[in-house]
Amino acid sequence: MSDSRVHLPVVGQNADPETAAAPRRRHPEWIRAQLPTKPAYFELRAMVKELKLHTVCESASCPNIGECWTRRALTIMILGDICTRSCRFCDVTTGRPLPPDPDEPRRVAEMLGRLQLEHTVITCVDRDDLPDFGAAHWAETIRLVKEACPSMTLEILAGDFKGNTDLVDIVLAADPDVFAHNLETVPRLSRQVRVQASYPRSYKILEHARKQDAVTKTGLMLGLGETREEVEAVLTELAGLGVDIVTLGQYLSPSKQHLAIERYVHPTEFAELEAFAREAGITHVVSGPLVRSSYHADGQAALVRSLRTR
Ligand code: SF4
Repeated sequence: MSDSRVHLPVVGQNADPETAAAPRRRHPEWIRAQLPTKPAYFELRAMVKELKLHTVCESASCPNIGECWTRRALTIMILGDICTRSCRFCDVTTGRPLPPDPDEPRRVAEMLGRLQLEHTVITCVDRDDLPDFGAAHWAETIRLVKEACPSMTLEILAGDFKGNTDLVDIVLAADPDVFAHNLETVPRLSRQVRVQASYPRSYKILEHARKQDAVTKTGLMLGLGETREEVEAVLTELAGLGVDIVTLGQYLSPSKQHLAIERYVHPTEFAELEAFAREAGITHVVSGPLVRSSYHADGQAALVRSLRTR
């Protein structure tokens, strides 16, 4: 799937066996997560468990879980918790998944109906084992959620459907308020970071959704070895495409088996890139070290409504 899945390991764990014995370096002081200690976090966790749902927040060990769940902002992950892909940044388990649970869309709708949120994000694992890569399951989930939560805006963070735009249309026909698909990194690093995906295919999916007049969103992780010029080139391209919302966040390596952090991007550079993106014509940019695709999306209901009426 396509979220930027992370937790808080030390830098360079997997860079080189020779350095493995070196003293563990800490993250810079601007990468600090809030520990999940508040009752609201535990209530949400109990509800997720009761309804047998999965969240990318947990599956990806997201550093923001304490902060987000305290606000009841969570990102439910559908189609199970085992992904058929093995992106080298991602902490979600890779393997052979179970068949999709036909009752899962109902339980997602029940959970969101109980929470009465203004906006939520739903994502999925990649299901390359299914003939439609999960498109019908997505459509059913969106339909039931919209029935249960008519005033909530719904953002979906989907995979690339292997570039099949007919399948994207099945999902769009269910009328999500935002269609998000992450490019994750610059073209040069795409194959290395997302082994079974490609930049052109992801770009095509975004382009297609935009042509269907969907509100579109994408995200990039920084710190994987990309250059400033490469990031700016992607932002310029996204502005030309008319993508509505872009997120930029620091890549954090989940384990020794994942790609190492090439560098920490300073908050000042995140701010500069945000300014660059706005100047290029992207009006909604969320940029910062701990930003993830869904980070603070819960505050974007009004924005999404305004984008839908443009
Ligand atoms: S940033 Fe997204 S994935 Fe992370 S805890 Fe918040 S909602 Fe979940």
